[in-house]
Amino acid sequence: MKFFTSLVILFICLNLKAQELQSPSEFLGYELGSQFTRHHRVVDYYEYLAKSDPTKLQLKNYGQTNEGRPLVLAYISSSENIKNLDTIQQEHIKNTEGVGNPSTAIVWMSYNVHGNESVSTEASMKTVYELLTKKSEYLKNTVVIIDPCVNPDGRERYVNWYYQFKNTPNTVDPNSKEHHEPWLNGRANHYMFDLNRDWAWLTQTESQQRIKVYNKWLPHVHVDFHEQGVDNPYYFAPAAEPFHEVITDFQREFQTTVGKNHAKYFDANGWFYFTKEVFDLLYPSYGDTYPTYNGSIGMTYEQGGSGRAGLGVITSLGDTLTLKDRILHHHTTGLSTLEIASQNAVQLNKEFKKFYLPKNYKYKSYVLNGNPNKIEALTNLLAQHEIEYGWATGKTAKGFNFSTGKNSLVKTSNHTLVVGTDQKKATLVKVLFEPSTKLSDSLTYDITAWSLPYAYGLEAVASESKVNATLDTHKATVQKPEQINQKAYAFIAEWNSFSDAQFLAELVQNNIKTRHAKAPFSLDGIQYDRGTLIITKADNKNAPDFLNTLSKIAAKHKKTLKASNTGFVEDGKDFGSHSVQPLKQVKVAVLSGKPTATLNFGEIWHYFEQQLNYPVTILDTEYYKNVNLSNYDILILPNGNNYDKLFNPNRMNDLKDWIKNGGKLIAIGGALKPLSKEEKFKLKPKTVEADSFALVPIYDHNQREQIRNEITGAIFKTKVDPTHPLAYGYGDSYFSLKLGGAAYNYLENGTVAYLDANSTVPAAGFAGVDAQDKIGETLVFGVEEYGKGQLIYFVDNPLFRGFWENGKLFFANALFMVN
Ligand SMILES: [Zn+2]
Repeated sequence: MKFFTSLVILFICLNLKAQELQSPSEFLGYELGSQFTRHHRVVDYYEYLAKSDPTKLQLKNYGQTNEGRPLVLAYISSSENIKNLDTIQQEHIKNTEGVGNPSTAIVWMSYNVHGNESVSTEASMKTVYELLTKKSEYLKNTVVIIDPCVNPDGRERYVNWYYQFKNTPNTVDPNSKEHHEPWLNGRANHYMFDLNRDWAWLTQTESQQRIKVYNKWLPHVHVDFHEQGVDNPYYFAPAAEPFHEVITDFQREFQTTVGKNHAKYFDANGWFYFTKEVFDLLYPSYGDTYPTYNGSIGMTYEQGGSGRAGLGVITSLGDTLTLKDRILHHHTTGLSTLEIASQNAVQLNKEFKKFYLPKNYKYKSYVLNGNPNKIEALTNLLAQHEIEYGWATGKTAKGFNFSTGKNSLVKTSNHTLVVGTDQKKATLVKVLFEPSTKLSDSLTYDITAWSLPYAYGLEAVASESKVNATLDTHKATVQKPEQINQKAYAFIAEWNSFSDAQFLAELVQNNIKTRHAKAPFSLDGIQYDRGTLIITKADNKNAPDFLNTLSKIAAKHKKTLKASNTGFVEDGKDFGSHSVQPLKQVKVAVLSGKPTATLNFGEIWHYFEQQLNYPVTILDTEYYKNVNLSNYDILILPNGNNYDKLFNPNRMNDLKDWIKNGGKLIAIGGALKPLSKEEKFKLKPKTVEADSFALVPIYDHNQREQIRNEITGAIFKTKVDPTHPLAYGYGDSYFSLKLGGAAYNYLENGTVAYLDANSTVPAAGFAGVDAQDKIGETLVFGVEEYGKGQLIYFVDNPLFRGFWENGKLFFANALFMVN
């Protein structure tokens, strides 16, 4: 009886406590969904919950955004589980090694990775509150990890803009300004990177900080909450084809189990939804696929709404979609996911263990040779993914050669990187390294090829048998530089990788005068290529503390400088020759604003500030016509769709004058179009004889017919002229990621990277047959001389999503070497 009484008292206490806990509306002082909640208030609410109920919710900071906002994770479970959180985490990770028998489900829910898909963060607050109160039974056997806002900078950009432009009260008229975000919309992060394309490449600070915690947990289920167009109702799992072939039967089935549970609630409420369409599981850098390749059930949920929806909007069907509706739907799927995970906790653990059993993938080892800086860049990425790697112990390896597409034997040394599929992260290794990805359907949402050996510009073979290697993950690939020789006449540094460009960028900014060789030379028996950097004492005789500064910068970038006591070379041109040219501290401007593409503008911005570390001035098309271009050596035009209006005849004449006088214009993707229309420039689109268009008389076939003309992100082996300054540091071929079928003729002089008639079949990925025809004999990268200046054309974008490591030196060449 006494026991019973205390139980009752305990129950009442707990209940009271639950009742005391303030709902989001109570805490915020307005009804959830009647306003957007600013990020600091969201964090306040989570902090309040952690303070009010620390036995069930812990809040941990995992980093900071570019704009200084906190990144937080809430861990929610029963008080018993929260007490043992570390043990639960350790037992769960041991399960990946086949040890133990855990039974707690781990569910990670990520909200608002796209900033203007703004309902998610609001819904997270409602969900966490319900979880701590009415739905706490799920927590008995489930640990829930909630990231209330993956992209705070993007979300605040949207919310702040919305407050500035919304009507009072808000209007549901879709024509009102509050439903039309400006050019710099809220979807991406500070640098205009789409964080939901960055899970595998980890180019952004948010992703880099998140992955550390993510790898500690490797949840059973990961949900990424999104929004789609206002006229679509709701999308949830199961996903659409193509599914990557590594996805297990259980992962497929469980997507359906989850989807059916959601459908139950949506049906009961009379809400519309769709499944198995649009959102596929292939490209590895999404918040659904990346977790899937790490053993999770990874899912995307899409509510209709996003930046167009505001607090309420009339859809094309004439319905009014409100923020409150949107919250309710995301809240429902969130709880439904937790319900299903909790019900299936034992099975999730069992299947998770199975996922990590040794795999028998066709390729057992990937073997990579090449420039030590490129190898190091790749190992830095692998380390962040906790992918193990090592160094070859044998003399040779045999397998599929990525460069030739045939089987071959390659030499190996203890500098040869080996990445095996006999490790915990085997599936991720296969997905990121395999030469080409099997497509169960060529209609996909994103690029179809990304294989890392191509992206990093390394010579690689995929071997069907295990290649022996030392597992010495921490070995430095780049040698520590030696002390520099104080007496030298000049110092010589290589020009072969993006790391060399970072080194040059810092030299230039420290006023260390640097020259580069325009012809190969040999000295002290060593052969040097075009582009080699030469830093002479004579050039820097007035620089205070020259040797000390040079030495510090070289050490920071791990560069070994070859000292020479003479400028007299054995072969080639001496250091005083006209062929050994000084490099200029160039002043660079990039155009932003409409019609430039936000994402490509962001890629350029990030390249300068976070990769190359070199200053760039950001101009805007709004006032570009008032800018005196002669203040700049270089102007960059990002990809964009409709430049014609910007370059009216007057502006085009100004631009031509500026180039004629020595200006350097760098144009990417769609920015080439207006230039190709200017009769004075030699760039011209390739005209293809119009095929008699075979109309397929079935309406339903049109989408499939369309893809004959498309290239959905595929990798092509291009030919390169390594004697051209734009290609210094490259060999005679380069693997380029092509994102579309744009086709320009060769330039008479200055065709630097190109596809010939025989190189139109992609090395990896999908290209429609008609598109293949069209890109034969076309330009990929080229330079046109015009007066004293140049136009540099990048038909393909070498900075795409910041992950195509081997393209970055082309861009550095465009800045420094071409002149
Ligand atoms: Zn989204």
